[in-house]
Amino acid sequence: MTRISTQLSAVRARIHAACRAAGRSPESVALLAVSKTFGADTVQAAFEAGQTDFGENYIQEAVEKISALRHLPLVWHCIGPVQSNKTRLVAEHFDWVHTVDRLKIAQRLSEQRPEGLPPLQVCIQVNVDGGPTKSGVTPADALALAQAAAGLPRLHLRGIMCIPEPAPDFETACEIFERARDLFEALNAQGLQLDTLSMGMSADLEAAIASGSTLVRVGSAIFGARHSPA
Ligand SMILES: *Cc1c(COP(=O)(O)O)cnc(C)c1O
Repeated sequence: MTRISTQLSAVRARIHAACRAAGRSPESVALLAVSKTFGADTVQAAFEAGQTDFGENYIQEAVEKISALRHLPLVWHCIGPVQSNKTRLVAEHFDWVHTVDRLKIAQRLSEQRPEGLPPLQVCIQVNVDGGPTKSGVTPADALALAQAAAGLPRLHLRGIMCIPEPAPDFETACEIFERARDLFEALNAQGLQLDTLSMGMSADLEAAIASGSTLVRVGSAIFGARHSPA
């Protein structure tokens, strides 16, 4: 076993244990491997250990990796901030975007999604803990943005995502993640058909799963400490 396959197995075991503790099926939580700052060879090693979905933050870096690994059946998720001048690259190269937080970005992604590709799978990023430096719509603005995004022809709105500040303990982490879950349920009660609640990282995936996460984004627990960003 390579180091990456060992660490992937350990993360999968954590997800299973957290699901068991929450009375949930292990299949109800997807694992997104966050490969930002790691090279194509590292992504390939994770693929060979059974991982297919990868998350990237830096668009330019990601596009190079996606091109280098075109021969593999990988699913690429953009989880970093998307500026207007990067929407075309995102629309042309990624399968998913978790970080839509403005209508203008959603509109550009829809307009720029190439005809030959399936709709771009999208989550609305929500600032659930009021963190000052954080992107994301407020929970109060989430419904309007979600309804508008759901109406765009080349997007498929799948859910919401959040990146709360690290919490001091499990209970506090759960309280914050539960705000996202409550919002997710409220949006579905308004008639949206969302199936993805993207929350939880290396340090807090157990709390996220206890609170209803359907997709955890895990980097350092799989790949180790990150290189500094380019
Ligand atoms: C880097 C990053 C992650 C992974 O963080 P780890 O703590 O390394 O698991 C998850 N989500 C987002 C949005 C990130 O930027």
